[in-house]
Amino acid sequence: MNLQDVQALDANDPLAHKRSEFLLPADTIYLDGNSLGCLTVAARDRAREVVEQQWGNSLIKSWNAHHWIDLPAHVGEKIAPLIGAAPAQTIACDSVSVNLFKLISAALTMQKGRTVVLSQQDNFPTDLYMVQGLSQLLGEGACELKLVSEENIEANLDESVALLLLTQVNFRTGRIHDMQKLNHLAHEKGVLVLWDLSHSAGVMPIQLDATQTDFAVGCGYKYLNGGPGAPAFVYVASRHMKAIKQPVCGWMGHKAPFHFDPQYVEADCIEKFLVGTPPVISMSVLDAALEIFEDISMQQVRDKSVALSELFLTLVSLQPELKELQLISPQDSRDRGSQLAFSHPHAYAICQALIEKNVIADFRAPNILRFGFSPLILRFADIWHSVEILAELMANETWRDEKFGRVGKVT
Ligand SMILES: *Cc1c(COP(=O)(O)O)cnc(C)c1O
Repeated sequence: MNLQDVQALDANDPLAHKRSEFLLPADTIYLDGNSLGCLTVAARDRAREVVEQQWGNSLIKSWNAHHWIDLPAHVGEKIAPLIGAAPAQTIACDSVSVNLFKLISAALTMQKGRTVVLSQQDNFPTDLYMVQGLSQLLGEGACELKLVSEENIEANLDESVALLLLTQVNFRTGRIHDMQKLNHLAHEKGVLVLWDLSHSAGVMPIQLDATQTDFAVGCGYKYLNGGPGAPAFVYVASRHMKAIKQPVCGWMGHKAPFHFDPQYVEADCIEKFLVGTPPVISMSVLDAALEIFEDISMQQVRDKSVALSELFLTLVSLQPELKELQLISPQDSRDRGSQLAFSHPHAYAICQALIEKNVIADFRAPNILRFGFSPLILRFADIWHSVEILAELMANETWRDEKFGRVGKVT
């Protein structure tokens, strides 16, 4: 394989034109869209318009004139088709962590007599922390976190479990769960299921309705490109909408917030998951960022994501300098999301040395080098160059320079 072969892949890429809808730093290969998505032209323009015109000129009139008040529902409906959700079940609000708190407590209330939240030992920590916090609040007898390894999830689905809490794509290894199968097995035992879609929404087809998913949350700033700290989203299947109660009763979740009634009466729709005033600037930016998905299918995005990661693996296997990188992601592309993770004792320094060469990957403790593939910005030639640069710095051992060992606050 040579660079021409790779450039031919770009010439035949049906998503190649999407790259020009982004504002990307020159000479940078960005393999970290799984941590913070890139800025679209539409998002940049909307940020200006919201700050300068809507806020600057129209001030408080904008709540109605520019539909600020409708943003959470409107953005939710834009995310819905990306996750296989029919209308009126998805809303944008708060962070993933806070939304997990709302849904985990709501699920426990719905499951009288069951107290166990079953999850995976290596789930994303915030997902586990939210259950630990709830246990503190409610007492162990009312909420108990049970952690098992990936292989033991099915065997632990029993009548004591109220909720199965899983992340669809593992943030370290990229391993993907079979959502359909796990929903089915859980439901057979009366267990509700809450999926965290942070590493899957916006990069692969997801079928929440068709797989009978109960609840889901997901992140706005990763593959949805909503910008740093963008609002997250909540999905609740319509069959649960009437029964579900979430405990963070804020005025925006009230049936009629502007009646200013002293008594809380929840909205009878997905809006009951709102709490306080939406972050209008951030949510407007997310709204604009989502336009990028309007004329493409998630299957197209998935196909390119698989092709990019397969190319990366092939090129790594052809470089003798890279044989010390141990793949910890599944070999089979059907079993993984849009990332590849490798372990190496000096993963941190290697990652820093790569960043200095303008190849942005990320490090996850204790020893993981992680590459994320954002199909809308990446060219196949970028994959070629990134592997060349990686092989070169491994061959020269550039990463041994002590400056690459310094650890910042965010890794
Ligand atoms: C990124 C991520 C989060 C982020 O949570 P916030 O509360 O929005 O910061 C949560 N869960 C998973 C699995 C993630 O990857």
